[in-house]
Amino acid sequence: MTQPLRRFADLTGPQLAERFTDRTVLVQPLGAIEQHGPHLPLSTDSVIATAVAEAAVATVGDELDVWLLPTLEYTKSNEHAWSAGTVWLSATTLLAVLDDLGRCIATTAAQRLVFLNGHGGNSALLNVANRELRLHHGLMTFTTHPGVPPDQGGSSPPGELGMGVHGGTDETSLMLHLAPHLVDIGAAQRRVPEALAENRYVRFGGPVSFGWMSNDFFADGYIGDPTAATAEVGKHLFEASVHGFCEALREIAAFNFGRPR
Ligand SMILES: [Zn+2]
Repeated sequence: MTQPLRRFADLTGPQLAERFTDRTVLVQPLGAIEQHGPHLPLSTDSVIATAVAEAAVATVGDELDVWLLPTLEYTKSNEHAWSAGTVWLSATTLLAVLDDLGRCIATTAAQRLVFLNGHGGNSALLNVANRELRLHHGLMTFTTHPGVPPDQGGSSPPGELGMGVHGGTDETSLMLHLAPHLVDIGAAQRRVPEALAENRYVRFGGPVSFGWMSNDFFADGYIGDPTAATAEVGKHLFEASVHGFCEALREIAAFNFGRPR
């Protein structure tokens, strides 16, 4: 029989008080409910972040004393505010939610809180939250992604010219692997803003960043090439994400700001 997944919310209060120690690591997946074009569901980022978090906690949970918090599905998706179906929190609301989360976590013995972020629009705010929660609640805080977004230094298949930032090859492949019944690949088209690739400065991941809404590039609001997606690519990406996150959790569990031991 396989062990039940180490879910924070399945514990009783007394169990939690007994089991959590100063080496306990908590994983908080963040998803989104936001438009992902005509080919992917609103829940795409939540599905991916939850699946990677569950697989990693199942793998290293016992070894590292990792527990899984419920996925936060409503997050900062206002680059998709124009679209039906997007449910978003403002930056100030999400920061306040994360600060409240930190306050609650700090009442337990756990000291390490890891944000596993499936939605690139949250990244900048999560880095702010890392420090706010460190300052306000004394927690050790970390932010990582199932896959680093291409506009934040991550890679993207060559066919996308480094611009598979939303609903493109990788994300669609992951969904073909994890939840194929939710993918309508026949509705997908290539959506790469090619002229941007000629810019040295003002481009995704370039030295000059820019504010954008997802329908600034194409009216249907996705950016990348989902037509190149396959379930095989998705399986490979998923396994690599889980492996990478497990390795990261080992470092997180031992992290002490590099102080001499
Ligand atoms: Zn997404």
